[in-house]
Amino acid sequence: MTSGDWTRRQFIAAAAAGSLAAAVSKTVPAYGNLTKKASTLALLGGTPVRKNKSLPDWPYCDQKIVDSLEKTARSGSWCRIQGGAHAVVTLEKEWAKLTGAKFCVATGSGTQSLHTCVEALGIGPGDEVITSPYTDPGTIASILSARALPVMADLDTESFQLDPADVERRINENTKAIMPVHMMGQPCDIDSIMAIAQKHNLKVIEDAAQAHLAEHRGRKLGTIGDVGCFSFQSSKVLACGEGGAIIGNDEALMDKCYTVHNHGTSRQGLTETIGPKYRMNEFEAAVLLGQWPGVLERHARRNENAAYLTKRLKDIPCLVPQKLYEGTNAGSFYLYAMSYHKEHLNGIDRATFLKALNAEGVSLSPYIAKGLHREPWIENVLKTRVYQTMYSPARLRKYREESACPKCDQVCEQMAMIWASGPLLASHEVMVEIADAIEKVYVNRDQLKSA
Ligand SMILES: *Cc1c(COP(=O)(O)O)cnc(C)c1O
Repeated sequence: MTSGDWTRRQFIAAAAAGSLAAAVSKTVPAYGNLTKKASTLALLGGTPVRKNKSLPDWPYCDQKIVDSLEKTARSGSWCRIQGGAHAVVTLEKEWAKLTGAKFCVATGSGTQSLHTCVEALGIGPGDEVITSPYTDPGTIASILSARALPVMADLDTESFQLDPADVERRINENTKAIMPVHMMGQPCDIDSIMAIAQKHNLKVIEDAAQAHLAEHRGRKLGTIGDVGCFSFQSSKVLACGEGGAIIGNDEALMDKCYTVHNHGTSRQGLTETIGPKYRMNEFEAAVLLGQWPGVLERHARRNENAAYLTKRLKDIPCLVPQKLYEGTNAGSFYLYAMSYHKEHLNGIDRATFLKALNAEGVSLSPYIAKGLHREPWIENVLKTRVYQTMYSPARLRKYREESACPKCDQVCEQMAMIWASGPLLASHEVMVEIADAIEKVYVNRDQLKSA
């Protein structure tokens, strides 16, 4: 370790004192001058920086997870409405406690959580929900499942998050809610989104599916809007294969979420409304509860490792870490996202850069190839009978015409990320190797002309 590295204590102290972004930028760079000597890139036959490419497995399995599953299996209580072990109810209490939310309803996936919230808020055919095109398909699926219209606003190219100005521009008399996505597990510009929602009297459903335990101005993501949704799908930082959760502080709304997710049947046993059956099963909750030990340590480690990478990347202009907004205290670091700027690497294209890095033993992902505004669902869905019935031809035409998101296209072209929950749990030494490999390719960029 170099003397400039952050200890965990320093990191937490800095994070507690203010914004993570500010704390990181105040750090004196330990690598202010790139001292790495010229050496042959591994792509051209040189020695790779990382000889051992292994990274922590994700998801992991240990005895605690196995014991928790076995306990549920033997209990015979395999469904939340049976008596007995109550893994789902315990999980809901634990997740509410960790996030500081008053209430939690567990579901079978992040998509199910989002759809439950859309239904619970009474959003349906004819209504519009503004969200991001740079996200998992589950985000818009939750809106389409209610036969509402997902209106995609464009991004900020430095944060990869929704641009609040473009969100506001797309509000009209049919808009009922904003579904901001906390992309890469970092807070979006939630201050601005909340201000816009308040001004236009809109509901806010936070898509925090990637953002477990991320924090903005002392509040965990998911607790800032009317409701917040999480995914526990295999790749996420808390994982059970498929699973999800809704959190919120409004008891009536959260009761409505329970009713909707329970095929329209309330906690009192009255079948009251339209609702799918989206209950989490006891085994999914058991896997998650088995993962509870160490969840905060893993969160802290990801943040420490990310802070180190961010510090090292300061001197490497071809890879710019995701911009964090004022007030960011911690991210989930489900993903460590960067944008690639070829103008700082002799105009070498991203694919070649990633190949050179891969040869050094560091694999970065370009992530989503294109935004959801470029997927075929737009044409297909707008042609369906329900959309043709519920929306006028003029509205659908306008929707199609305004679906361009050029900033999102740019983000897709520039993205280079460390994917996903496993790598950022690696040791500090691995982070040093990753940064060294990036630095090596940057310092020796002239060799790539001939590649
Ligand atoms: C994973 C994810 C979802 C969907 O969650 P599932 O559990 O896969 O249904 C929604 N939004 C974002 C941003 C996600 O990353």
